[in-house]
Amino acid sequence: MPLVNEHYLTLTGAYLFPEIDRRVRAFQAARPDLADRIIRCGIGDVVGPIVPAVARAMHEAIDELADPARFRGYPPANGYEFLRHAIAEHDFRGRGAPIEDDEIFVSDGSKGDCGHVLEILGPDNVVALPDPVYPVYVDTNVMAGRTGPAIDGGGYEGLRTLPATPENEFVPDPPSDRVDIAYLCFPNNPTGATIDHDGLRRWVDWANANESLILFDAAYADFTRDPSLPRSIFEIPEARTCAIEFRSFSKHGAFTGVRCGYTVVPKDLHGRTRGGERIPMHRLWMRRWTTRANGVSWPVQRGAAALYSPEGRSQTEAVIDHYMTNARMLRDGCAALGWHAHGGENAPFVWVACPRCEDSWTFFERILHEAQVVITPGLGFGRLGEGFIRISAFNHRDRILEVVERLRGMC
Ligand SMILES: *Cc1c(COP(=O)(O)O)cnc(C)c1O
Repeated sequence: MPLVNEHYLTLTGAYLFPEIDRRVRAFQAARPDLADRIIRCGIGDVVGPIVPAVARAMHEAIDELADPARFRGYPPANGYEFLRHAIAEHDFRGRGAPIEDDEIFVSDGSKGDCGHVLEILGPDNVVALPDPVYPVYVDTNVMAGRTGPAIDGGGYEGLRTLPATPENEFVPDPPSDRVDIAYLCFPNNPTGATIDHDGLRRWVDWANANESLILFDAAYADFTRDPSLPRSIFEIPEARTCAIEFRSFSKHGAFTGVRCGYTVVPKDLHGRTRGGERIPMHRLWMRRWTTRANGVSWPVQRGAAALYSPEGRSQTEAVIDHYMTNARMLRDGCAALGWHAHGGENAPFVWVACPRCEDSWTFFERILHEAQVVITPGLGFGRLGEGFIRISAFNHRDRILEVVERLRGMC
């Protein structure tokens, strides 16, 4: 028998969403009369559809593949130039962020990239993660053997925590002790918090002063409504020497099923060997892509590029407006019940403090039983998520109105 990667056995329990599914199925089995009433505001998948500009571009791309004269084989490992150019121009240079086309790496989604990046980083780095946090960052560190055993009540030995609490408006402070790699996510999943230029600059200054790396997840950048807020860490140009950014088309582009995202690795970013030699991270990431993958499919890259066309952009703006109006309705609805609601203004999540000092799984069960609404318990995002729930705005308007109505009925 082959030996298994025992680091996988260090992972605690089920990944959050399977556990939620299990509890929902248990409820449906116990209450078949209410089984069809369930409304899901939990996992945070979009309700689609892809916008017409994207659908048309993908159809055309399929027709090309079916035409012997226009057929295309393997794409460039890091993505087609037309897409990387559109990304760099629109998402970065157009916003004053100095990023070149060949610093963009197109992928099949940023969840994968968030884990794969560990492959080009040594095993002995000290890693700091926000709490609460998108669980993927934590679990991929565990799977790669970069942690000690699980700690009772949540977390793993060997990982540093960056507390995100109401006191710091869910924006962690840079650590005062030695940290080599820090994860940040803004606009934040799960808290819906945002970071302003000053806050981001503090992090960039900290990273450059300490020769640390920031892994910046901006999957929700396009949901930022407030024009004064940064959408990319590279709007602080000094981040070119200390940050990698992950972006996704999944949420604003309804690409959760299409699968496409990208990672930005600036050529000024370096790591070092044990012997002290400076190594460009861009070179390692390029090598990873050319060796491990053959790129993203032609129809998907054509579809992603269509998001940047004038038509695609205005259609996508309407989708974002829809979700952000949902978010405001959820936030206002919770506030009207006297619940303390955070987020929902520049991110499609509302982060609600559990009333009556309930713990988050208890509140989850109560909302499921009394309102047949599925939310996400904050504890699933870390110890400091305890006492909160996350409500996702990714739903149809009539569903959101119904959720607000049913929550009102609970009190
Ligand atoms: C949804 C999400 C992603 C994007 O995942 P994809 O693989 O691109 O679908 C990345 N980070 C966070 C925090 C997310 O919520």
